[in-house]
Amino acid sequence: MLYQRSSQLFVEAAKVIPGGVNSPVRAFKAVGGTPIFVKEAKGAYLYDEDGNRLIDYINSWGPMLLGHAYEPVVNAVIEKAKKGTSFGMPTELETQIAALAVSMVPNIDKIRFVNSGTEACMSAIRLARGYTKRDKIVKFSGCYHGHSDSFLIAAGSGLSTFGVPNSPGVTEGTAKDTLLAAYNDIENIKALFAANKDQIAAVIIEPVAGNMGCIPPKEGFLKDLRTVCSENGTLLIFDEVMTGFRLAKGGAQELFNIQADIVCFGKVIGGGLPVGAFAACNEIMDYLAPVGPVYQAGTLSGNPLAMAAGFEMLKQINSDQELFARLEEKTAYLENGIREKLTENNVVFTVNRVGSMISVHFDANPVCDFKTAANGDNETFKKFFHGLLKEGVYIAPSAYETWFITDALTYEDLDFTIKAVGKVAKEL
Ligand code: PMP
Repeated sequence: MLYQRSSQLFVEAAKVIPGGVNSPVRAFKAVGGTPIFVKEAKGAYLYDEDGNRLIDYINSWGPMLLGHAYEPVVNAVIEKAKKGTSFGMPTELETQIAALAVSMVPNIDKIRFVNSGTEACMSAIRLARGYTKRDKIVKFSGCYHGHSDSFLIAAGSGLSTFGVPNSPGVTEGTAKDTLLAAYNDIENIKALFAANKDQIAAVIIEPVAGNMGCIPPKEGFLKDLRTVCSENGTLLIFDEVMTGFRLAKGGAQELFNIQADIVCFGKVIGGGLPVGAFAACNEIMDYLAPVGPVYQAGTLSGNPLAMAAGFEMLKQINSDQELFARLEEKTAYLENGIREKLTENNVVFTVNRVGSMISVHFDANPVCDFKTAANGDNETFKKFFHGLLKEGVYIAPSAYETWFITDALTYEDLDFTIKAVGKVAKEL
């Protein structure tokens, strides 16, 4: 496949956009080469500016659960756009999507819509801090909750429990209020609580981590985390930006039967338009302005086009009783195929999967946290990525990302992909 036009477009883009992209991972820095410029997409396929067709396993990093240009969503957006694109005033549609989301997700009474997952998580921790009147939060190494200051924090050195900024521009003052924990390690969490008694407002977690590959929570980990939070008067925040409306109608809360205190959404809930949301019980949500003292706002929050797309998406998910079983079957089929081909070719690997989230790691050992995720062989990953791309299969251009399976994929597409994996595996 040729990427001549994409290469030219990238050169032009880099003249006027930093690094040529509006979000860093798109730049192919981790795998080398030139990013592909998309012209259009339909169902499971991307069509690029050079006329190549690619089977898409990123799906806009999660939102396109039902495939690209999904007709009911597209039509809803078109019809809405004809009637005005933004008012900064309430619309009935906001109540309709909120009521539907509240009915699908366990344990939430009210939901507030914002414009991105970043905003959802940023607002959720402000709410948790305001509600508990405490300053510190705990996040897990390797989990991503968007690019707001409190989350761009790395583990401090040695035995220090304090975080340090991992981007210039984040202040030490902000970093000192974010404590870093190891994913899947409950003893580590207990030690953090012991060292910071009555100071931790919230623990935020991806209930299935998707930003260091796909990492499932160990048996009992989320339940133990729930217990520790409850015992300490700390709110448990599930960042379900990836898992919400993807792993089950009610997301990870439903899948693992664990109740979080605040839940964050993004991606699927917007049907491919810029939407995020956070939700909780009445008591917590009524702590928000204009009812309560914690301030949060947005000119375009609840935007009619975004709400139309999200509402249509949620309606489809809510009415399709077979959807999650189908996604599970398709992704399990893909997983088995990948395992078979890599094993046949003596490639050292680990595959992790929960529902329609899956990742391939080039390391023989279990991948269960940030440390083990970092052990993967990146050179092999690069060859795997570019090999698949040559075959017309597009996976995320980084070993730390999850593949998001769409219901638009047919078994023919999956067979094509598995065959491509077999071909590429011979060269690894
Ligand atoms: N939380 C999680 C779990 C995410 O995966 C992401 C984005 N990948 C975010 C938050 C941030 O969402 P956004 O990019 O929409 O700001």
